[in-house]
Amino acid sequence: MDLLDSLSAKGLRRELPTREEALAVLATSDDELLDVVAAAGRVRRQWFGRVKLNYLVNLKSGLCPEDCSYCSQRIGSKAEILKYTWLKPQEAAAAAKAGVSGGAKRCAWWRAGAARATGMSSGRRDGGRDPGRERGCGGLCLPRAAVGRPGVAAARGRVHAYNHNLNTAEATYGDICSTHTYEDRKDTVREAQAAGLSACSGLIAGMGESDADLVDVVFALRELNPDSVPVNFLIPFEGTPLAKEWNLTPQRCLRILAMVRFVCPDVEVRLAGGREVHLRTLQPLALHLVNSIFLGDYLTSEGQAGQADLDMITDAGFTVEGADEATLPAEREAAVTVRRRGAGTDLPPNA
Ligand code: SF4
Repeated sequence: MDLLDSLSAKGLRRELPTREEALAVLATSDDELLDVVAAAGRVRRQWFGRVKLNYLVNLKSGLCPEDCSYCSQRIGSKAEILKYTWLKPQEAAAAAKAGVSGGAKRCAWWRAGAARATGMSSGRRDGGRDPGRERGCGGLCLPRAAVGRPGVAAARGRVHAYNHNLNTAEATYGDICSTHTYEDRKDTVREAQAAGLSACSGLIAGMGESDADLVDVVFALRELNPDSVPVNFLIPFEGTPLAKEWNLTPQRCLRILAMVRFVCPDVEVRLAGGREVHLRTLQPLALHLVNSIFLGDYLTSEGQAGQADLDMITDAGFTVEGADEATLPAEREAAVTVRRRGAGTDLPPNA
């Protein structure tokens, strides 16, 4: 198929496909699905050989002052989720250690709403705003070696990545949230990058968006140039405004993941929330498109058993990325010099 050959060749060259090509991937038929997976899988295997495991710890569950309509933690949510205020540092550390012992390479401490209450900052001491502090939720990501003492690790600048998703297209952002804007989210990702953090920013599919909206947000992400792109599939919680949005199929999910891989060929594409619910028995095929998944449970919903994930990875012919193995391709790593001086370190800033 000319389209898939062209997309595959572009992905191998890290070349951006056209919007029309990205839209065409989403419009492929079920008969073409395995060809789509094979073409995007070639790109995935060119840049990534393993599967990276990540682990989420929700530092505060529910009680968020923001009103993101897809979220069970939003203000006014009637979803029957766990609700608690900030975990104590030792509780957060214990939760993270469980993920690490299950094989996770990276742990994301998630914080909805104001972040200062956690006592965990990104390490900035220059008076700049802590990414995510005032504009909704975000995840501070630490390598597994730092999970035992999160507060101390963060203060020492051990936080190496920051997650803050764009979620959906600019044109429809106002439909899913009124308490902050799409531009706020983009700014926060840029600020994380400016603070020397590896940016992680992704999307949520299945919120009633069009194919054009999906392509818009993925192209916007490519422009922002995060190191990792989590792809979430909406979990329509009862008690939230999007509770009735059950409009994803496993085939649609695979097309979306393939499109993201073609647009972001050498970026860590992570299969995130909703994979069990929407991909169901086709989850192993998704491993040929993504190179990263969350292990265990999500912020407010339960994932499949960690051992089932490990078995699935093995059965699909992949291995789990080790703690000392690089995630990103060398070409991409070389383009980014991780800051090791200035704020959060004992070395003078570059000024
Ligand atoms: S800011 Fe985050 S936690 Fe709060 S409602 Fe929005 S998505 Fe949910």
